[in-house]
Amino acid sequence: MTSTYHINENGFYGAFGGAYIPELLYANVEILRLNYKRIIHSDEFQQVFRQLLKDYVGRPSPLYYAERLSKHYNARVFLKREDLNHTGAHKINNTIGQILMAQRLGKTRIIAETGAGQHGVATATVCALMGLPCVVYMGAVDIERQAPNVERMRLLGAEVRAVHSGSKTLKDATNEAIRDWISHPEDTHYIIGSVVGPHPYPDMVALFQSVISEEIKSQLEEQAGKVHPDYVVACVGGGSNAAGAFYHFMDVPQVKLIAAEAAGKGIDSGHTAATVAIGAPGIIHGSKTLLMQDKDGQITEPYSISAGLDYPGIGPLHAHLAQTGRAMVIPVTDTEALEAGYELCCMEGIIPALESAHALACLKKLELNPDDTIVVNLSGRGDKDLETYINNLPHGK
Ligand SMILES: *Cc1c(COP(=O)(O)O)cnc(C)c1O
Repeated sequence: MTSTYHINENGFYGAFGGAYIPELLYANVEILRLNYKRIIHSDEFQQVFRQLLKDYVGRPSPLYYAERLSKHYNARVFLKREDLNHTGAHKINNTIGQILMAQRLGKTRIIAETGAGQHGVATATVCALMGLPCVVYMGAVDIERQAPNVERMRLLGAEVRAVHSGSKTLKDATNEAIRDWISHPEDTHYIIGSVVGPHPYPDMVALFQSVISEEIKSQLEEQAGKVHPDYVVACVGGGSNAAGAFYHFMDVPQVKLIAAEAAGKGIDSGHTAATVAIGAPGIIHGSKTLLMQDKDGQITEPYSISAGLDYPGIGPLHAHLAQTGRAMVIPVTDTEALEAGYELCCMEGIIPALESAHALACLKKLELNPDDTIVVNLSGRGDKDLETYINNLPHGK
């Protein structure tokens, strides 16, 4: 069966994707491209990957029927509990997959870049697990802003290298990681944290995260007597948790795919990360996709209250899903996300990551029927966001 929504043999999703990389990086990416599918689909890889997902990550993550939320929205609302994974989010599914890939390619050293630090922590975790040295590049500004995650990475044995160039944030850290990879092509694997970067990264990361929708199907069948929900809702930074939650439903047209992007202070405010709403085609991190840019094509600085959604691009799969109308992309402001976060705290006793709260905020924006079944992907837990929640509490709370 040929699918319109999976990657084609040239590494494109429709008009988006590809591998726009410097000549010096070509050999590294090519080795990965030629081997990733064979390795992932081998019995040996699947057996080790599945075992670690079960015993180390704690999968399957529960699919929880949220009764009070369902009453409130007059529909059947299920939460996919990626927040209950080891390290508190979906990111570990990908870093486990990639470290196993690195080992099978004979790599002995790992590098990564991180913005908020969540991907850095997930990478440092699997490097400790496998006993591999780990260097995480992080902008100097982000190191200041995300001190607890820097401490976690160091405790796990990773070296955090501060990047002082440019705006000292994520894209500068990415440039440094790429430079490192160019100078260590033989022994090093670069673990990218979302469905972004040059082909084959977006497809590889989506495959590792697709365990999310694989589980949703069987859990929904057991709990609701059907395999296909009416809606799947997920937040999109680079788009890896959404890719995982959508994956096995992309070719099932009756399942509506809803992507929540961070509108920040509003899509026209100049303080936003709503890439689909205001972005245009361009090239970032080695792939062609939608990105926020000024009239000269310079990437503009994104903003969101949630560090994990604070990214000026979007994975090429999601650019394609948005452009073809397969997914509906809903911008959610900081304020709307905070309200949805507070609501989940008080209605279900779950403190969601601010990223995931963007997905929850879509429940208010959809026109739901009482027999609609909705799965919201709860990508992570909110412990890291406590300070933001507390500092923004509405008056009288
Ligand atoms: C990193 C992160 C995200 C955003 O990344 P995606 O690749 O878009 O999934 C969302 N939620 C949480 C909890 C995160 O840590």
